[in-house]
Amino acid sequence: LRRNPGEAEFHQAVREVLHSLAAVLRKRPEYAEAKLVERLVEPERQILFRVPWSDDSGEVHVNRGFRVEFSSALGPYKGGLRFAPELALDTVKFLAFEQIFKNALTGLGIGGGKGGADFDPKGRSDAEVMRFCQSFMTELHRHLGEHTDVPAGDIGVGTREIGYLFGQYKRLANRFEAGVLTGKGTGWGGSQARTEATGYGTVHFVREMLATRGEDLTGRRVVLSGSGNVSLFALEKAQSFGAQVIACSDSSGYLVDERGLDLDLLKEIKLNRRARLDSYAEARPRAGFHTRGSVYDVPCDIALPCATQNELKEPHAVRLAKNGVKAVAEGANMPCTPEAVRVLREAGVLYGPGKAANAGGVATSALEMRQNAGRDSWTFEETEKRLAAVMRDIHADCVAAAEEFGTPEDYVLGANAAGFLRVADAMRDQGVV
Ligand code: NDP
Repeated sequence: LRRNPGEAEFHQAVREVLHSLAAVLRKRPEYAEAKLVERLVEPERQILFRVPWSDDSGEVHVNRGFRVEFSSALGPYKGGLRFAPELALDTVKFLAFEQIFKNALTGLGIGGGKGGADFDPKGRSDAEVMRFCQSFMTELHRHLGEHTDVPAGDIGVGTREIGYLFGQYKRLANRFEAGVLTGKGTGWGGSQARTEATGYGTVHFVREMLATRGEDLTGRRVVLSGSGNVSLFALEKAQSFGAQVIACSDSSGYLVDERGLDLDLLKEIKLNRRARLDSYAEARPRAGFHTRGSVYDVPCDIALPCATQNELKEPHAVRLAKNGVKAVAEGANMPCTPEAVRVLREAGVLYGPGKAANAGGVATSALEMRQNAGRDSWTFEETEKRLAAVMRDIHADCVAAAEEFGTPEDYVLGANAAGFLRVADAMRDQGVV
């Protein structure tokens, strides 16, 4: 706390992990002696830099860029870039810290990092976004490399931005180093199913959680927050497993369509037109768009928070539990507050934390790196099959670790313990570095 004043989100993420690790360190005191936890909570490197650029009218803007290279114990730093106006070091550090455990859970040999900028791409022209990305990469490129640090997308950074970032990296490095960024276009080194992977993976994880109680997704009412990359593909996969997805949201409100959301219309609005959700209700008058209350007020069996951190708060959890929700799985990073998690767990709701439930995105990024290293390209079906297997394994590892450390069905403990043990073993083997 003293070393990182004012970093509330980072403290929240660390506190949750430390709470879980108490049970691990009691059983494995040798990890405490090696001060592995003290080393793990300090980033290996933090990079802050100026990003100057000019808009279409010639006006000059100055943003701040970040890259937190948190842990390379298991492989090159790996984690997305977020472009969002309020982004600060605190958020980047919490995301990078969570990424260490998430990436360890995939078992695919990747370290943890995260980055981004306090830049808002909304309302900017393609040319402005391109100039911003070029300026951002002009500084960041010296810290990257396929064996060093491999960013991907996150909020505000999709295939368009990754394209501009890659173009500038290639120009500066004078090398077509495909493995330096993931989430690339599928025509030039990107993996099939990467765009879909986080949302699909979250639903695979929910399916595994439900199966532990002999249940499945067929006919279940599903509510999700957000309507971005993760949400839309979670929606797609949940529908394909027979669920009825009835509500989603964006930062302006939430949409309810009791007959089931029309995915094609949503994709047209959000991905092609980059428009607001209320245009859905204009096209489908049976649906309702609400600016008061919350998407979590809609009675459901399964809730998938897929928007942003700390969006599902205690009163939302109380409402969900009262309405009989069976499972909550985090497509976003840390979307549930600690108070909300406590309410859900006390109500006996299956709760899948983001570092396990949304690991499908980074797992498929690691598969993209493998394809790039082998100059190979797998089909959509092949990639999705591997993604589903990774999610099954992560679920099984969480269940096993939760049992080993004394709290069956506690996926928070399971994910933190299983992830920590992989990183801790590697750190111990590599000495005090
Ligand atoms: P996008 O930018 O594609 O989508 C974010 C969505 O959330 C948008 O619809 C946005 O609405 C909405 N949103 C933002 N704030 C709120 C809010 N307070 N209430 C309701 N909706 C809100 O981002 P992604 O889908 O890529 O990422 C979403 C989350 O998933 C993040 O936490 C990210 O870190 C995490 N994640 C993403 C991965 C990926 O592969 N993309 C991998 C693993 C985790 P609006 O458009 O109005 O702003």
